[in-house]
Amino acid sequence: MSNEPEITNTLPPIKFRFAEFLQSASALTNAPADTGSEVAFAGRSNAGKSSAINTLTQNKKLARTSRTPGRTQLINFFTLSETQRLVDLPGYGYAKVPLKMKKEWNQHLESYLQRRQSLRGLVLLMDIRHPLTEGDEQMIGWAATASMPIHVLLTKADKLKRGPAKSTLLSVKARLAEFGDLASVQLFSSLKKDGLRELEVKLNGWLTDQSVFDDAGEGFEKQINDGDAKDPLSPDA
Ligand code: GDP
Repeated sequence: MSNEPEITNTLPPIKFRFAEFLQSASALTNAPADTGSEVAFAGRSNAGKSSAINTLTQNKKLARTSRTPGRTQLINFFTLSETQRLVDLPGYGYAKVPLKMKKEWNQHLESYLQRRQSLRGLVLLMDIRHPLTEGDEQMIGWAATASMPIHVLLTKADKLKRGPAKSTLLSVKARLAEFGDLASVQLFSSLKKDGLRELEVKLNGWLTDQSVFDDAGEGFEKQINDGDAKDPLSPDA
C-alpha cells in the first residue's frame, strides 16, 4: 500500500446538525444562486416533512411544524456548508387552498424540479397510511421528466404494525420500479428516529457526489481524502 493520500470523487460527509436557515423564496427567480448542490424535501401537507427535517438536523425549530397547512407557500433554503443546501418545498394537496394559488404553486414546483441546476435529488415524503396521492404522482412525473433521482420516505411508520408497513413499502417499491436506480423508498419515523441513518446515507451520496460536475466543467477540484472519514456518518466525523 502506498502512503499517497487516496484521491476520491466525493466531498467530506455532511454534518446535518449544522443546517442553518438561509432564505425563503416565493419563486425560482428569488432563490439563492444556483451553484453547488442541494436536495429538496417535498410532500403533501401534513405528511411529516417539517418533523423529518427537524429530526435529520437535530433541530426542533429549523422547519416549523405547520399549524395551518398550505399557508406558507414559500421555498425555504437551509445551508449545510458553503456549497450544500437543504430545501423545504411547500406542502401540496391541502384542500382549502384556492385553485388559482394551487395552479401557481404547481408551476413553481414544476419549474424548480426541472430547471434548478444544483438540485441533486428529491426526497418525497408520504404518510405511510396514504401513499401515492395525486399530488405525489405529479411530483414523481415531474422528477422523472427531469431524470431527477427520487427517494421516498414513508413517514409515520410507527403508526403501522410491521406487516402492513412492509407491504406498503413493497407496493410503493413496485410503483417506482420503472425508474430503476433513479428511485428508492424507505420506512421513516421521526417519532422513533427509525430510518434516519438510511436517509443520511442517501443524502450524503447525493450531496457529496462531485462526478456531476465533471462533465459540466464547473471547476470543482477532486477532493483529497486524508483518511479521516473512514465512517462517513460517525457522529464526530
Ligand atoms: P408537514 O405539514 O408535512 O410539515 O408535517 P408535520 O411535520 O407538521 O407533521 C404533521 C403531523 O404529523 C404532526 O402532528 C406531527 O406531530 C405528526 N408526525 C410527524 N412525524 C411523525 C412520526 O414520525 N410519527 C407520528 N406518530 N406522528 C408524526
